Amino acid sequence: MIPAPVRYARAADVHDALVLLAEPDARPLAGGQSLLPVMKLRIVRPSLVVDISRLDLRGVHIHNGELHLGALTTWDDLLRVEELRRPALSAITECAAAIGDLQVRNRGTVGGSIVHADPASDIPAVLLALRAAVKLRSPNGDRVIPLANFLVGPFTTALGAQELVTGIVLPIPEQGSGSAYVSLEHPASGFAVAGAAVLVGPSEERVIALTGLTGTAFVLPEGVDPARALESTEIFGDRFASTAYRRRLAVVLVERALERAARRAEEDR
Ligand code: FAD
Repeated sequence: MIPAPVRYARAADVHDALVLLAEPDARPLAGGQSLLPVMKLRIVRPSLVVDISRLDLRGVHIHNGELHLGALTTWDDLLRVEELRRPALSAITECAAAIGDLQVRNRGTVGGSIVHADPASDIPAVLLALRAAVKLRSPNGDRVIPLANFLVGPFTTALGAQELVTGIVLPIPEQGSGSAYVSLEHPASGFAVAGAAVLVGPSEERVIALTGLTGTAFVLPEGVDPARALESTEIFGDRFASTAYRRRLAVVLVERALERAARRAEEDR
């Protein structure tokens, strides 16, 4: 499929990108791994694509006990950061390694993934389990909102018009924590049929987040048995995996992720 005619502009900096995005049907282009396919299918028909891929929004750093991921950080970038190998953050690299193929991991970005908000995408569950928030910039200024509030529904977020995701921020879990991401990949796309991300804290407290089951990734209520919580969750089914199969799969993935995260937490004590 060939996309509809579209104009292209490369933004020089974030301010320039926001000015260009004032055009009503303009769209930012990061790695293009999700935007170009939907343009080719003509599901999305922007009048202007604003290339933000070279903006200074790429990289990982730790500051004041927080981990900051630039919006343009690619999956491959994440795999090269030594600090992300610590037990509490291992879910991030585990997830990045499972995404797509080499080309997708080289081009696809964290920011692009959360804005595209595919219900089967992997990283939202991991970032929810790690209590991440989204950093946004528009001509009105900067704002930071919890990822759980940013993800509104399938392919829908709280991103405003003329607004850019500049990054993700999350608190570094305390010493003695471990995280893990376990998914069943769809054999054709690699996206998650279901995926479970878990953070286990030093006193066994845990956060469990799931993807691939509902319109958007979500966190299971605290202190409730995961199997019981999933019984009352409205889970979708399709020709690849029925609702009943996905529900059972999710329970198994949660168990595996909990086991792995607890082992990592133990190693960190
Ligand atoms: P783009 O395609 O450039 O943009 C996506 C959307 O986000 C667009 O609407 C764009 O306007 C908007 N956008 C991008 N950046 C910003 C920003 N900073 N601020 C505001 N809006 C922005 N994903 C998985 O989770 N798991 C997989 O297994 C997986 N497999 C894949 C396999 C293939 C073959 C392909 C093509 C993709 C796959 N993906 C998978 C998707 C991949 O992870 C993409 O990287 C990601 O979904 C989008 O990132 P991108 O940088 O390419 O975004």
